[in-house]
Amino acid sequence: MTERIPLDSFDPGPALCYPNQLQLNPLKYMKGLTECIIKKGGQIFTNSHVVEVKGGDASFVRLQNDHFVTCESIVVATNCPINDLVAIHTKQASYRSYVLGLEIPNNSVIRGLYWDTEDPYHYIRLEKKNGHSNEILLVGGEDHKTGQNDNPEHCYTRLENWTRKRFPKAGRILYRWSVMF
Ligand SMILES: Cc1cc2nc3c(=O)[nH]c(=O)nc-3n(C[C@H](O)[C@H](O)[C@H](O)COP(=O)(O)OP(=O)(O)OC[C@H]3O[C@@H](n4cnc5c(N)ncnc54)[C@H](O)[C@@H]3O)c2cc1C
Repeated sequence: MTERIPLDSFDPGPALCYPNQLQLNPLKYMKGLTECIIKKGGQIFTNSHVVEVKGGDASFVRLQNDHFVTCESIVVATNCPINDLVAIHTKQASYRSYVLGLEIPNNSVIRGLYWDTEDPYHYIRLEKKNGHSNEILLVGGEDHKTGQNDNPEHCYTRLENWTRKRFPKAGRILYRWSVMF
């Protein structure tokens, strides 16, 4: 428990601090992982939407195009279950989250992964882009259930207002995108 977060520009009050967090580039990580799998004789099938999973003897997965992949073991790692064996999927909902990437002077924000407990909540990260003199402040949030907001532009505007109030040194918006999860 800490009295305040290590940012000068705003103080949302006491916070929980998890030390020694790792921040990695997921694409570089995936590159290393896939190269390692292939080097060890594994095969990777992309663009392969699974519609049926059968375990036990003669395990296989059936793909949308009716191709089959046979294997000894199956690990389903789809985050949201794609079967109805357990009713977890009935308790989950898809959300859309919005992200802005803004220029920010180097070292003006202490590196960390920050998130608040507002509803909807916000999250903050820093990224450094090769060949770019400034750092990039990534701010996300304004989540809502997918399909339940008729004006996504408002989400970007609210996110920008939230950011500029708390990070007055933030400059141009370089990137913006939304993601469903
Ligand atoms: C905006 C955002 C920010 C986040 N920030 C952080 C963070 O800073 N730190 C952190 O630790 N976590 C973060 N998370 C959470 C993290 O991304 C997830 O917990 C993590 O990606 C889950 O990994 P996973 O491999 O279980 O599932 P996923 O990464 O969701 O992978 C599941 C895969 O299964 C595939 N799939 C689904 N159905 C099928 C099917 N029928 N056939 C074939 N393939 C299928 C999907 O296409 C997907 O590639 C964030 C999430 C979001 C959305």
